[in-house]
Amino acid sequence: MKKAILIIVLILSFLDAAFLEKVKWKKDQTLLGFLQENNISTSLYYTLDKEDKELASEIREGTTIEILRDEYTGEIEQILIPVTEELQIHIHKNANKKFAFEMIPIKYEKRKNTLRIDLTKSIYQDIVDKTKSHALAKEFLDAFKKRIDFKKLKKGDKVVIIYEQKYRVGERFGLPVIKAAMVEHRGKEYFSFLAPDGKYYDEKGKMRIGDSFIVPCRYKRISSRFTRKRWHPILHRYRAHLGIDYAAPRGTPVKAAYSGRVIFRGRKGGYGNVIEIAHPNGYKTLYAHLSGFKRGLKRNQRVKKGQIIGYVGSTGISTGPHLHFGLYFNNRPINPARKIVIANKIETKKRREFLKLVKIYKNEIKKALQREVIALNDYQSE
Ligand SMILES: [Zn+2]
Repeated sequence: MKKAILIIVLILSFLDAAFLEKVKWKKDQTLLGFLQENNISTSLYYTLDKEDKELASEIREGTTIEILRDEYTGEIEQILIPVTEELQIHIHKNANKKFAFEMIPIKYEKRKNTLRIDLTKSIYQDIVDKTKSHALAKEFLDAFKKRIDFKKLKKGDKVVIIYEQKYRVGERFGLPVIKAAMVEHRGKEYFSFLAPDGKYYDEKGKMRIGDSFIVPCRYKRISSRFTRKRWHPILHRYRAHLGIDYAAPRGTPVKAAYSGRVIFRGRKGGYGNVIEIAHPNGYKTLYAHLSGFKRGLKRNQRVKKGQIIGYVGSTGISTGPHLHFGLYFNNRPINPARKIVIANKIETKKRREFLKLVKIYKNEIKKALQREVIALNDYQSE
């Protein structure tokens, strides 16, 4: 009995100190709903500008939210909600004890990993077994797209992947970034390197154009590019833009950037009229601010690359007619420009820098091949 009481006392004292609460962002949860749920004045939401509102609709289901509460009263002091891989919403009490909103950089740690695999099952499965990261396995296949027939790889073929992964509060966070990769098949080596333009090339700076995403509409100019974090020198705050804005006249046809299946057709907060299409290998595209949808276009319908799906407009929070085009990989936004391939070799002015990188990474790959198979301490789930 004494022991039981002691345990209860211990638990209670532990709870008393536990002022940091971690919750997961729910499916279809909105920032407005979240504020209401936590008894925070919704006027906070209505004072946000267009970009911040747009960003707020990008909070990903399952994201870990940190809520800091007063140790004694249990009242919320601060909330952190990651929105991009670089920026988070910070809600905190200001001097007047009122809640304020700001975008601040996420503190994370970047680790560089070298993964060496001697093939046992399939390359995809071997990568997942070793790292528990489907994102890494998919990105790896993408890096070699059209250059290697992965079905032909055999037991004993070797693979080296040099990649970066972010960690936040001890958890794996965001998408892995493959810097360099090599496949050794029957004694022949195949390389892929990430260039400063965000695309993968072989060691000579070439790539196969293959079957890439297309620009989804004819446009006058790009009015906003993709960025996960940018300091706005005039507004004095951080911004992000998770897609590309193509300025185009109202009514300009919008085409599917790649073949796939329509998974959403309707309104989506600040994005207005939206179509979302799911594509093979974990990709998804989003077309926002549309004036209308192609007549007869339905959810679950299959569409072909280049097929008209809707029309440019200015619905939702938008200052003029434009198409906001978003590309997602494993439900995380990536820069669409990385996957829209127009030329089959790297730009001349970026070539020198690229070849320097190739030299460095080839050396690292060589070292990894000489080592024994590396055991990775990287087993957190996604
Ligand atoms: Zn936009």
